[in-house]
Amino acid sequence: MSTRVNPELVEELSAYGAEDVQKCFNCGNCTATCSLAEEHENFPRRSMRALQLGMEDRLKGGLEPWLCYYCGECSTLCPRGAQPGETMMSLRRWLTSRYDFTGISRLFYRRPRVEVVSVIVVALLTALGFSLFGFLRGNIHEYNGANSFLPAATIHIFDWSLAGVLLALLIPNIFRMWWFTVGRETMGRSRAMRVPAAAYLRSVYLFPLHFITQKRYAQCERRRPWLVHLALMLSYVTMLVLIMFFLKYMWAATIDWRVHVFGYLASAGLIFATVWAIIGRLKKMEAQHQHSHESDWIFLILLLVVALTGVAQHVLHRSGADAAANVAYVVHLMGVVPMLGLEVPFSKWSHMAYRPLAMYFATLRKHMVPAPIPEQVAGGMQTELVS
Ligand code: SF4
Ligand code: SF4
Repeated sequence: MSTRVNPELVEELSAYGAEDVQKCFNCGNCTATCSLAEEHENFPRRSMRALQLGMEDRLKGGLEPWLCYYCGECSTLCPRGAQPGETMMSLRRWLTSRYDFTGISRLFYRRPRVEVVSVIVVALLTALGFSLFGFLRGNIHEYNGANSFLPAATIHIFDWSLAGVLLALLIPNIFRMWWFTVGRETMGRSRAMRVPAAAYLRSVYLFPLHFITQKRYAQCERRRPWLVHLALMLSYVTMLVLIMFFLKYMWAATIDWRVHVFGYLASAGLIFATVWAIIGRLKKMEAQHQHSHESDWIFLILLLVVALTGVAQHVLHRSGADAAANVAYVVHLMGVVPMLGLEVPFSKWSHMAYRPLAMYFATLRKHMVPAPIPEQVAGGMQTELVS
């Protein structure tokens, strides 16, 4: 791997939230404290050192920031106040911007006002588009039926189209993450290592496992942040499955408890986890809530808007206030579209994909073996020919 040094790296990272890196004198207290650090993935001290030395390529090819769950223990115990936990969080933002092939992520993280304006513009365009569509083809006083303001079938097509756009943006970024962390060492021109194909297959379950359970977080000293994170992830995944595959049941005139009970639990989980995080950040109660980047607030506010308007729309519809339910639905979509179209591929939501992938890639790296050198291959062929 190249060892290009970037002397501006510490300054560059400060735009992503890491402001105290130079205070670190490499005592190693943080790594000794961290219950997630391992022999192979020995962080955060090593990341702090690499940052101080400007080792950009090493950091870009590393997975350590994704293996940290920001419990904040290391920051609390750092004798120099170098904020290693917050630095790992900032590195995750920085890595997200490195993986992103469009440059939008870098722009959003470095200039949060651009992100806020983009979210507002997309939200307003969404409101305009759906309102025009609704008024031109239907009646605001009807929620279901042929004359409905926003027909379920159209919304379903829109949801799947949005999912397609989202994947088209996210998949190249995931490929770049794989390339930086595994691919270029195993497939690059200076190919020195390889991961056996069987290891790729054997370990692939790690992605869904860590995506859904976030189980690595449970190894941290305090269990509560993991439980909240778990509630958030389970609620989010449940809601996604309901919207993508069970929308007609959610939309039906009568409540189908076999489906709706999951919707109620998911809504409660989303609201609880979001409110907990907002209060924590306002009160700065936990170590991981001491420092908030603008992107953290955008993420939380959008999530709260989406969850509350989803509940409002449902309650209004069930109580017969169809016009108000349609208005609540348009506001709901004003949160959903920027959240899925901007936040998932380019900002904090993308961490949901990168973190469990990091668990998968870290395991692949443990399975790396030296690639056979050409002479060995040629020698082997010769031996076969002679025999
Ligand atoms: S971040 Fe703090 S605890 Fe960790 S090595 Fe640096 S000075 Fe020591
Ligand atoms: S924030 Fe917690 S998980 Fe992350 S490096 Fe520090 S001690 Fe480890």
